[in-house]
Amino acid sequence: MMEDILKRFADDPRYVVVPGGLRDVHVHFRDPGTPEAETRASGSAAAAAGGFTCVTTMPNTSPAGDNPAWLREQIEDTSLSCRIAPSACITKGRLGREVADLETLVAAGAVAFTDDGAFVDDARVMEEAMRRAAKLGKPVMQHAVVPSILGAGVMRDCPVARRFGLPVMPPEAETEAVRRDIALVRVTGCALHVQHISCAGTVELIRAARREGLPVTGEATPHHLLLSCEDIPGDDADWKMAPPLGSREDVAAIREGVKDGTLGMFATDHAPHPAAKKTGGFRVAANGIVGLETAAAITWQVMVIEEGMPVRDWIARWTTGPASLIGETPDAGSFAVIDTQANRAVVPDAFKTKSRNMPFAGMCFSAWPVLTVFKGKVEYRWE
Ligand SMILES: [Zn+2]
Repeated sequence: MMEDILKRFADDPRYVVVPGGLRDVHVHFRDPGTPEAETRASGSAAAAAGGFTCVTTMPNTSPAGDNPAWLREQIEDTSLSCRIAPSACITKGRLGREVADLETLVAAGAVAFTDDGAFVDDARVMEEAMRRAAKLGKPVMQHAVVPSILGAGVMRDCPVARRFGLPVMPPEAETEAVRRDIALVRVTGCALHVQHISCAGTVELIRAARREGLPVTGEATPHHLLLSCEDIPGDDADWKMAPPLGSREDVAAIREGVKDGTLGMFATDHAPHPAAKKTGGFRVAANGIVGLETAAAITWQVMVIEEGMPVRDWIARWTTGPASLIGETPDAGSFAVIDTQANRAVVPDAFKTKSRNMPFAGMCFSAWPVLTVFKGKVEYRWE
């Protein structure tokens, strides 16, 4: 029966079938810790609605994912609408002081290490973590922002920052972090993955590192591909994320990086928050926006329609790109179908995620997921 459904879509050029389904190496499910923002159940339902069949959860939960019990809880939850291939902390408690028990974490199922939300600022700690991760054959995924350069920065220099007198983040906060980590790749041989790239300088550093033959990868988020800091309408925290939106030149460079394969994957950085945490403007609100349910629509708009990227490359950035980073193959009997002529507006109240924090409400996109099958079971269907 599933074969019949697949054939019907495969024969119609309006639809794109994504073999195995989309994969996302960067999501926050707030589970354990903040169930009012997201649980594994609501997060995986949002993932399925976005066409995803496998997601990598970040360990910045409460408590943090620095122990085998946390990983088991993520992996062994079989009630979910997609698979979780979890990452685990680089340092104990995500405090940046002492390397976590990486060997035990890999044995328990960690596919990568990250302190995401925080940068591992101490180079000696990072070097030790990378030496041990290299022996384990696992990548480190870095939230690349040097705190001393970031300061109190909440957005890049732009009209809204000037109008409201908001503290700004210089792009060097990101590029200096990436420069240091690439130097550590040279001495440790560890695979480095740079998360949510926000500026042109980072794309260039990764391009050069890859030319040098170093195992360095990077991800582009839908929001850093679609929006620049010039688009921010006011002191509205639905536009606040870390790292913040870049300049128009940065957006163009990230698109170019995705096109030429310097950035081998998209990733959402899906970051749900309850409404109370997103009030009070940029100075006080939490960082992050939800993204699983709009990811396919936005990346299709930006990369296929506006940039003319071949459809097979768009599929690769959501499938083989992420799979090669975390070393996981798609589950049998899984696929997603995208309707490239759905032409729908973003309606947050129709989302499966428990949270509504994002700047896309009302925007119109043409391509949307209409069917997600995970291990032979229909987990989402657009009615
Ligand atoms: Zn991050």
